Amino acid sequence: MSPPGRPKGEYRSAQREGTPVSEGRPADPPPQARNPGAPVRASAPRVAGSAKAYVLTPGREKSLLHRHPWVFSGAIDKVRGDVQSGDTVDIIAADGRFLARAAASPASQIRARVWTFDAGETVDAKFIEERLRRSIARRANLFNSEHDAARLVHAESDGVPGVIVDRFGGTLSVQLLSAGAEAWRDAIVDALARITGVASIVERSDVEVRALEQLPERSGPLRGAAPADVRIVEHGVQYAIDVAAGQKTGFYLDQRDNRLRVRVLARDADVLDCFCYTGGFALNALTSGARSVLAVDSSADAIAQARRNAALNALPDRIEWVEADAFRHLRLLRDQNRQFDLVILDPPKLAPTVRHVERAARAYKDINLLALKMLRPGGWLATFSCSGGVGIELFQKIVAGAAVDARVDAQIGGRLGPSADHPVSLSFPEGDYLKGLLVQRM
Ligand code: SAH
Repeated sequence: MSPPGRPKGEYRSAQREGTPVSEGRPADPPPQARNPGAPVRASAPRVAGSAKAYVLTPGREKSLLHRHPWVFSGAIDKVRGDVQSGDTVDIIAADGRFLARAAASPASQIRARVWTFDAGETVDAKFIEERLRRSIARRANLFNSEHDAARLVHAESDGVPGVIVDRFGGTLSVQLLSAGAEAWRDAIVDALARITGVASIVERSDVEVRALEQLPERSGPLRGAAPADVRIVEHGVQYAIDVAAGQKTGFYLDQRDNRLRVRVLARDADVLDCFCYTGGFALNALTSGARSVLAVDSSADAIAQARRNAALNALPDRIEWVEADAFRHLRLLRDQNRQFDLVILDPPKLAPTVRHVERAARAYKDINLLALKMLRPGGWLATFSCSGGVGIELFQKIVAGAAVDARVDAQIGGRLGPSADHPVSLSFPEGDYLKGLLVQRM
């Protein structure tokens, strides 16, 4: 996965991962999975019970009884049948009880991802379509003249493990991250086309996490031609989205609410937006009358796109875009005695898993310390972590430690999380990846 093994300050290719999804196909593979050219049958004939099964070690049924959607390799005692990647398997407790029906991924530590806890439910193309339909229906009120972009499907948390779908106007950007998602690829794409009626669907399964499921990275148009000029509106601000090659699905929709929250703090402020990507926070700051905005990102493509986005909105020319390593650039700004009224720190995932937490904690502390030092009294820091391995408590401790070392008194003025189209299922706390603090210097 991304940054862990690299020396500090080299998070260059690191992309923020939306969800700790995946890796994760049904009793028989769906017909289209084995024969991609074959027409998709609306519902493959299949009995509810599956001959293929993973039987768990005694005591390992607990998490499934709590409706957690993952089965780890260590929990499995016996394998029944010839289980292939993506097959639907029954998950059976040691005492023979049915626990769940799941997609198997024999290569992954996450050996199965649950489709359903209902023994009577058949996993077929109709089932997949219904899950997607419900997920999309839950977002109905997120679209209006101020917004035409949202995450439609958020993987495990929406009951569709390994499937991420972002809608950008008339284009869908799809990530299939698990063996189960991969197996039902054609059914998923057909269903998305039917449900949304969009002209263009693009695949962005070019993510490292697929390797854990022994799936190759893949991207390109799935339906329609590759869209030439994808535009969205968010809080009235326009963005051009590079769906084909931008980071992740093309845009970080998870920060939508926070961009608005930060906008109101930017009036007459000198603003520093670190890890700015295509300008989300920076453009919002300008919209609300920031005195100056300095926006930093190490990706030349992101900065070029950010400039185009600024031009699209005809915003005042009070912004400086800098292509630089933010860890180094923060030091440079400190050495120049620069001061700000609002600093945004939205780094990529520094700790993909708990193994990387210690190193990530040092990196988070480093940038937060520098940012706090450069804040004027009364100034605000909006600081984020999208590391699954760093919980909110730890993150708050890190920021508190940074304030002590910076010799700055500060208070928490608010806690920030992802927008509502990035829900966290109550039975899947691993989905709670994005956390943020609004901190004000006293
Ligand atoms: N705030 C953005 C999303 C940030 S995602 C928004 O609202 O859209 C994290 C960003 O950090 C990416 O754009 C990535 O290019 C950038 N990045 C990764 N490592 C970096 C580094 N060392 N220095 C500066 N930017 C970096």
